[in-house]
Amino acid sequence: MKLADSSAPSLVDRFGRQVSYLRISVTDRCDFRCIYCMAEDMQFLPRAQILTLEEIETVASAFVALGVDKIRITGGEPLVRKGVLDLLRKLGRLEGLRELVLTTNGSHLAEMAAELREAGVKRVNISLDTLDPDRFRQMTRFGSLERVLGGIEAARQAGFDRVKLNSVILRNRNHQDVRPLVAFALSQGLDISFIEEMPLGVVDGHDRAEEYYSSDEIRHDLEREYTLLPTTEGTGGPSRYLRVAGTQTRIGFISPHSHNFCGSCNRVRLTAEGRLLLCLGNEHSVDLKRVLRSHPGDAERLQRAIVASLAIKPERHYFELREQPVIFRHMNMTGG
Ligand code: SAM
Ligand code: SF4
Repeated sequence: MKLADSSAPSLVDRFGRQVSYLRISVTDRCDFRCIYCMAEDMQFLPRAQILTLEEIETVASAFVALGVDKIRITGGEPLVRKGVLDLLRKLGRLEGLRELVLTTNGSHLAEMAAELREAGVKRVNISLDTLDPDRFRQMTRFGSLERVLGGIEAARQAGFDRVKLNSVILRNRNHQDVRPLVAFALSQGLDISFIEEMPLGVVDGHDRAEEYYSSDEIRHDLEREYTLLPTTEGTGGPSRYLRVAGTQTRIGFISPHSHNFCGSCNRVRLTAEGRLLLCLGNEHSVDLKRVLRSHPGDAERLQRAIVASLAIKPERHYFELREQPVIFRHMNMTGG
């Protein structure tokens, strides 16, 4: 594919936001069923409907040619997609891509961490909501805490630039885990981000409004034990960071409800079925799979479709926890 030259259109939306970050959901499937992410009984997409690995690579190359310099591979659980390592190796070689990063539930990291690092993955985010094995099982429905802890250890050994934990905190489910999770992050030299639950898709078994636990409450819990210092450091995502005094550990807060971050949004998402989603909290999207399959090999047409899509990037999301979700897509389609 032709690389962007200085005359290539840049990815700037109607609100002046430059898009430099693409998140790709490589599969909607997962070996867990986290209660905030999925219903217990999920229908997954038939194989023919999801992008092939070659198609994903083509879209990624087009974005990099247009100036995107950071790609996150996510899912579903990205490490259950067959061939994902090959894809990562290819993406790792894309000229112009500064950062290739991954979000995973950690269940396959023990056997894959070293190869992921070799493939060119710079940083990994690992989801971990509790250190209590029973609560872990309740939150993930199918997950094994032991396996994930083994995966975290393998990631530490593999030499990534940074390993970060992601924790979704729900009132009366795992809010008591906030301080133990930070103690764990400190003991392992990891960063950690706390995420407010977003109302994406219909989930069974819990009430999102009743179980909402805000970033401010989490911060308050932590300040009873730790001194948190402001830091201007960021990772180019939606987290606001604080540093734990006397340590290298950063604590991030992803607060879609309490601290809207849309003004600085630099992201778009490719869903597992090849829709380019312009905002996690809206349905504005462009069907890139149709472009790919109706004009195979036409890189310019694909780039034009991507540039044109920015005209419909919404200004912000409006999440409402007390009503039925207006977004019927679950998080596994877009990968957080
Ligand atoms: N399976 C991988 C994992 O769990 O890390 C990657 C995909 S997962 C959808 C990406 C992130 O989204 C995870 O950190 C998960 O905790 C978070 N997540 C899932 N559903 C969410 C929701 N409804 N609200 C907020 N975060 C959510
Ligand atoms: Fe799977 Fe990640 Fe969703 Fe949990 S949050 S069900 S691990 S995709």
